[in-house]
Amino acid sequence: MIAGHEQPHRDRALTAGGETIVALRGADFVPLVEGTAHVTRFAPSPTGYLHLGHAYAARFAFEAARLSGGRFLLRLEDIDPQRCRAEFAAAILEDLRWLGLFWDGGVVRQSERMALYRQALDRLRGLGVLYPCFCTRKQVREEIDEAQGAPHGPAGERLYPGTCRDLGEDERRARIRAGTPFAWRLHVERALALTGPLSWYDVRAGWVEAEPQLLGDVVLARKDVPASYHLAVTVDDAAQGVTLVTRGEDLFHATHIHRLLQALLGLPVPRWYHHNLIGDRDGRRMAKRTGALTLRHLRARGATPAAVWQMIGLGSDVPSPACAGVSSP
Ligand SMILES: [Zn+2]
Repeated sequence: MIAGHEQPHRDRALTAGGETIVALRGADFVPLVEGTAHVTRFAPSPTGYLHLGHAYAARFAFEAARLSGGRFLLRLEDIDPQRCRAEFAAAILEDLRWLGLFWDGGVVRQSERMALYRQALDRLRGLGVLYPCFCTRKQVREEIDEAQGAPHGPAGERLYPGTCRDLGEDERRARIRAGTPFAWRLHVERALALTGPLSWYDVRAGWVEAEPQLLGDVVLARKDVPASYHLAVTVDDAAQGVTLVTRGEDLFHATHIHRLLQALLGLPVPRWYHHNLIGDRDGRRMAKRTGALTLRHLRARGATPAAVWQMIGLGSDVPSPACAGVSSP
């Protein structure tokens, strides 16, 4: 049992790398022991160095697995070759080991699993729930600007107005024949008509009715990157046997789409725990640009793993491999 998690550290000023930070809303770190051994995962993208926010998310998944006698898996979400670098991938493994967050089994790399994502995409296409979208990113922006009352997403962002949804079959074929690049989008309305109403369980929020239409017709594959985040995550969580998906609450609404994809692909449905995010004093999320708060930087300045946990409000106990497989009351 890790001490110090029961008390949230609200608005507590902490110093890291010369900058003052706070654990924004304190740690809502809840050991999830319900007689179920959870399989969890930490799934960063190697597009930069891990920062304090990652340490929090990784520790969260680690403890949920360890305290329940389950398994903690590591997956590198490196499907975008333009943004991911081997140097960052190596650094992620090194930083996690330094923190004592040892994972079970090998490291799953999404870049090596494109064939699986293609299979899933084929299956969705076979169900008639995908359509090719020929719009460039710039065109999508312009179409949104022109569309009267363009739909808005949960974060206020404007959604794809569905320009290519109702293109005729002849028009589609002609454009594909002409070599026009396109992305595959999910026809959410048609997909929902197939699955019927869906719900999912979040440990904090309880039962949630799936509303994938909140995110619009999301892209599931592009010409340059043949699997989107949504598709790869859904396929991999099922393939890896993840039973409890822990991740930041910024991804809460993405789960509506993932639940829909699970239903379409006939995949098992895990539970979710969308945890709070930690931020700096101004309430900004820990982003990669806050270079001073990378684990690397802190370590170079002499921080210990215990100091890292203290900075993010998790007490100073370090995770111990001795916790593995031990259930806690
Ligand atoms: Zn389009």
